[in-house]
Amino acid sequence: MKQAVLDFMARACAMEAEAAERYAELAEQMWAFHNREVAKLFGKLARIEGLHRDQILEKMGWTEAPDPSAFRWETPEGPETTDYGELHYLMQARHALELALHNERRAAEYYERLSEADIPEDIRREAAEMAEEEREHVRLIEVWLAKTPDPDARWDEDLDPPVSVD
Ligand code: ZN
Repeated sequence: MKQAVLDFMARACAMEAEAAERYAELAEQMWAFHNREVAKLFGKLARIEGLHRDQILEKMGWTEAPDPSAFRWETPEGPETTDYGELHYLMQARHALELALHNERRAAEYYERLSEADIPEDIRREAAEMAEEEREHVRLIEVWLAKTPDPDARWDEDLDPPVSVD
């Protein structure tokens, strides 16, 4: 297999592994904030990206994904990895969805560029398929964003504080 193809598969594998991990984290946070619907959406996306990762591993005969530092999620504002702990819990759903949307778009664009690049035909086809799947994720998240209202000016005032039950 050519080096360019190996590089492509390694990066794709790292991207999918990173996405699966981030979605699992976001799902856990949404559960902690009792946002069941968004938690389920992220859980579903974590499974899909995990399947993508496993498909690539199997195809390549690899036992584990390449170093995830080859591809990191970034915030819409810049390449820093988000410190999720700093997000206010009332902002969580919208913020998390925007973060996911940003990274799904990046993934879709990466695969789109590759699908048009001067590389072997079978890899281009593979990239085109991945691009289509990532665009589908973008659409899923857009639907959810449309259902998630903008935080109003008083978004950080908790009108219904959690009550301790112990
Ligand atoms: Zn995706």
